[in-house]
Amino acid sequence: MQQAQAKNNKTMTDHMTTPCPAKSILDCIGNTPLLDLGDGIYAKAEYFNPSGSIKARMAKFMIEKAEAEGLLKPGDTIVEATSGNTGNALSMIAAAKGYKMIVVMPDGYSNERVRISRGFGAEIKLVGHFQVNEARAEAIRLGQQPGFYCPAQFDNEWNVEENREWLGREVIAQIPAGVKIDAIVQGVGTGGTLIGVAQALRQWHNPDIKVFAMEPSESQTLECCIVADHKIEGISDGFVPTIYDRHRDEITEVICVDSQIAIDEAHRMAREMGQFVGPSSGANYWAAREIKRRDPSIKNVLTFLCDRGEKYLSLMYQDTGA
Ligand code: PMP
Repeated sequence: MQQAQAKNNKTMTDHMTTPCPAKSILDCIGNTPLLDLGDGIYAKAEYFNPSGSIKARMAKFMIEKAEAEGLLKPGDTIVEATSGNTGNALSMIAAAKGYKMIVVMPDGYSNERVRISRGFGAEIKLVGHFQVNEARAEAIRLGQQPGFYCPAQFDNEWNVEENREWLGREVIAQIPAGVKIDAIVQGVGTGGTLIGVAQALRQWHNPDIKVFAMEPSESQTLECCIVADHKIEGISDGFVPTIYDRHRDEITEVICVDSQIAIDEAHRMAREMGQFVGPSSGANYWAAREIKRRDPSIKNVLTFLCDRGEKYLSLMYQDTGA
């Protein structure tokens, strides 16, 4: 047990340094900057990850865990449902490790993310318009075939484990001395980032941390079961993920952000701060400020800049009047 713990700790420490020279692009995942955006708002810039998003860590962690447990073997095919970023991350990992990759994706999401996965050599299987849950069922079905592996990001507790043990520990190591993070806010796709990082902060940083789940005002699924079109891609995929459902009691409150605010905020971040990010990052930044405004006892908030604006060129950066 002690040995296993020591081995585990070593792995976690290893994750926090990027080898130089790196032997694989996968060694360059993680170790992202923590940005002090001023006024007590700290943002983990996850768009720095190879493949451009917060999902690279989870994808690497899940694939290496599946390899270690003998669920994924050389020559196998990885299959996963995604609204885009997990597909990009897994496609990169499959390419670097020599697996075949099938991305099951609803149609309707930003075309850039389909093209990025294709660029990494993945096969894309499109299902119904914005139907992530349909994609999820199809990926799980395909993953049951011999020679296939489906990480099942919406259901798999390894997603939470990665965010607690890797992203969570990394953030804690970066919080400046003397700063106490009072709240965390993150848009919920699978819920893995929010729940895993919140568990880490609660356990090792501030036991009283307030945990805010963010979702679009147009599609308030988590507590109100409303599913509707919105423009904050990567979150609120039309159903309550198993992970979120399982850890519901760890959430303090749900905060909603209008799609248009998310987009305007991302545009503003690009123009005024030089942060070229996607809409969920804009929504997170707005929500972090709103949380502080509503409750002045909250001094410091942690949030995430989840992906790069390049993934939305055709959606929100084509005609911004810039
Ligand atoms: N923002 C973006 C752009 C994403 O792609 C995702 C993941 N789908 C999230 C936020 C939410 O992350 P999680 O799945 O860990 O809830």
